Amino acid sequence: MKKYNFYSGPAILPQEVFQQASKAVLELDNIGMSLIEISHRSKEFVAIIEEAQQLVRELLQLDDDQKVLFLGAGASMQFCMIPFNLLGENDTAAYLETGVWAKKAIKEAKLFGKVNIVASSAEQNFNHIPKNYSVPADSKYFHITTNNTIYGSQLHAIPESPVPIVADMSSDIFWKPIDGKKFGLIYCGAQKNMGPSGVTMVVVRESLLGKVSRPIPTMLDYRNHIKDNSLHNTPCTFAIYVSMLTMRWIKKMGGLTAMEKLNEEKAKILYDEIDANPLFNGVIAKEDRSRMNVTFTINKPELEEEFATLAKNAGCIGIKGHRSVGGFRASIYNAMPKEGVQVLVDVMRDFANKKG
Ligand SMILES: *Cc1c(COP(=O)(O)O)cnc(C)c1O
Repeated sequence: MKKYNFYSGPAILPQEVFQQASKAVLELDNIGMSLIEISHRSKEFVAIIEEAQQLVRELLQLDDDQKVLFLGAGASMQFCMIPFNLLGENDTAAYLETGVWAKKAIKEAKLFGKVNIVASSAEQNFNHIPKNYSVPADSKYFHITTNNTIYGSQLHAIPESPVPIVADMSSDIFWKPIDGKKFGLIYCGAQKNMGPSGVTMVVVRESLLGKVSRPIPTMLDYRNHIKDNSLHNTPCTFAIYVSMLTMRWIKKMGGLTAMEKLNEEKAKILYDEIDANPLFNGVIAKEDRSRMNVTFTINKPELEEEFATLAKNAGCIGIKGHRSVGGFRASIYNAMPKEGVQVLVDVMRDFANKKG
């Protein structure tokens, strides 16, 4: 039976990317060697990383000041690397607190400077995105999490900000067209919507760097990674290659406009069912619902296990909600086909007909 991977990350990637990647593991482009044994400084790999950077530039419409880096240690490392590079001891950074990942970013920033939480939905268990706040013009930067993977909420408009916006796009990078030029820094762990685990993409404006006076360890200083084109040390070559293949696939499918259309269609199928089905409830305020991670609960908690088993038996894998929210979460990233969402919706409908 066909299985559909609804896990939040590592997550589904296009089937043809898996096929191309497995071929390259055996032999890369008829060079007589595997992708995973070649030097990161070989001309073959340099061509791969340059194509990956070029694809990011095209997809996000970047300008020359914005540099594309592929770094290690996950999006979590960026929580400290960003304030290390951008926030002086007496400076203040503004943060929007919209979920667990935002909280973790805030915790790290406090080690380096002052943090101003301009708005938070923590008291409502992050069931919506706060609005009607303002960002002080003397902030060094304004940090947002564009998609809250755990709670299933998403910012559907880039907020107004008088200072550079720093955005954690780990779980919604490339989900629709954006004007990347509007950002001071963008980062994402690849393993949700871009590629396999092992690499973190960072897009940083070079003109924001070099303004804090503290010493920065070599590997944590963006300037060194810019200078050495992400090859200061050995990067995760496999993850960069597979991310590049995934971006090629996005382009071939019609780019981010096509991704948006497909993602909106999939999300609508699922949210329509959640709203119509008497057994299920959405978790997040309607206007803030994520198109990537769809969270819902069941009205009769005693049926939770039974529904989870039925979904699994129908091929829907990984729909259990995060432990801090409970219920269910269906991650429907770019590579999730519409059929997968339809299978899940059919299980929900059958279940309500039997138990509702
Ligand atoms: C998963 C996730 C992270 C953490 O990513 P790692 O690469 O595991 O460190 C950070 N932010 C968001 C929004 C995420 O979804």
